[in-house]
Amino acid sequence: MSGRLTLRNVEVEGVGGLDVRLDGGRIAEIGRRLGGGGPELDGAGGALISGLIDHHVHLLALAAQADSVALDGVRDAADLAWRIGAAAAGRSPGAWLRATGYHEGVAGVLGAADLDRLAPRHALRVQHRTGALWMLNSLALGQVLGTEAPPACVELDAVGTPTGRIWRGDDWLCGRIAAAPPPLAPIGHAFAACGVTGLADASVTTDAEAAALLAAAHQAGDLPQRLMLMSAGELTAQLGMTVGPVKVLLDEHDLPDLDGLIGRIAMARRWGRRVAVHCVTAVELAVSLAAFETAGAEPGDRIEHGGVIPPAAIGALKALGLTVVTQPGFVFERGDRYLAEVAADEQDSLYRIASLIRAGVPVAASSDAPYSSPDPWPAIRAATARRTRGGGTIGTWEGVAAAQALSLWLGGFADPGGPSRRVTAGAPADLCLLAGPFAEALADPDAERVAATLIGGEVVFERA
Ligand SMILES: [Zn+2]
Repeated sequence: MSGRLTLRNVEVEGVGGLDVRLDGGRIAEIGRRLGGGGPELDGAGGALISGLIDHHVHLLALAAQADSVALDGVRDAADLAWRIGAAAAGRSPGAWLRATGYHEGVAGVLGAADLDRLAPRHALRVQHRTGALWMLNSLALGQVLGTEAPPACVELDAVGTPTGRIWRGDDWLCGRIAAAPPPLAPIGHAFAACGVTGLADASVTTDAEAAALLAAAHQAGDLPQRLMLMSAGELTAQLGMTVGPVKVLLDEHDLPDLDGLIGRIAMARRWGRRVAVHCVTAVELAVSLAAFETAGAEPGDRIEHGGVIPPAAIGALKALGLTVVTQPGFVFERGDRYLAEVAADEQDSLYRIASLIRAGVPVAASSDAPYSSPDPWPAIRAATARRTRGGGTIGTWEGVAAAQALSLWLGGFADPGGPSRRVTAGAPADLCLLAGPFAEALADPDAERVAATLIGGEVVFERA
């Protein structure tokens, strides 16, 4: 009985007035006036498309963010103080207080003393928008630092006192803060409401414990999406998920030597896995391309972000057959900062799409949530218009037509930049029903147009 449902009057690949019969988690039949008998869902003429896959997210970080203070829209130091103060007022003294999305444009890079003034009676930790830096106040430092020498991620001043800044120390920090795992149902529901049926988690921190947490949430229906997990180390697939590429995180503050990166690619091959390298800057990309040239690239190897891709690197990406997994949403959400802070000659190379596709480089899209909004629809708009929140534009020639922008979310887990998964008999019933014809939805991409979302033939979201 699982997944038996007939969708009435939907548009499939441009053809309207069709019925789609689902059975056993798959599309059984598409045609006109199909026989019924089981449960039905009226599509009201809306387009039925494959469910979207967000090809690069950080699920546990996103879930944790749902509970914390969001600093993304903070204007200045006074606004920051108000928001932290308001959040602290709602919690008992001594409790942890977590804030995310901070940018030093607000009040500079913060140290323990700055944060003590903001929250003198709570253990405050503030995450930088990039996710690379945590800033802790004295109470928080006191809770995470032991009597032993601190690890390298803990920044020290000239006399050896911790500054409060912890660089790329998520693993260590999480191990030090005893916290209940964040609930995953809110983000599972939020993704479903946007038509997202698949999630590729790109966290280097994913280990057996994190995978078990996600698998449990998936089996409980809290996180109904199909999951693909990347990881830095070895990982065994659990029920309801696949294991993806080995994720390699480069850091321009501490670039790995070329040999080290080549070694990590070789290690991934021994595990039978592809490789996904985090490349935001031109330097990170250059090191990665050099490593792939020596170690050899395989179809399915990925460049995550491709934040800056100089013109000369496009040919190398194509020659190596690498897929670029980009975040069009950054153009909208961070574009105004890029226009103010990125050198003019580098602005032309930011978050490319059209020039890569023209050159034959496979491109897929993602949110990198929580580092941008998990809603793909504003990102589809940004991939088309290349408009920033403030009304500026970034590389308008990198914009693609809306249907092509949507297709960046429609490749499969194994081939994210490849052909779109199709709504066709035999395909898994991972589907997004839109509240109107395809052309109408794409003229104004918005999650409000998602009428229903199905995963394996089960309705996981239906708009009231
Ligand atoms: Zn990421």
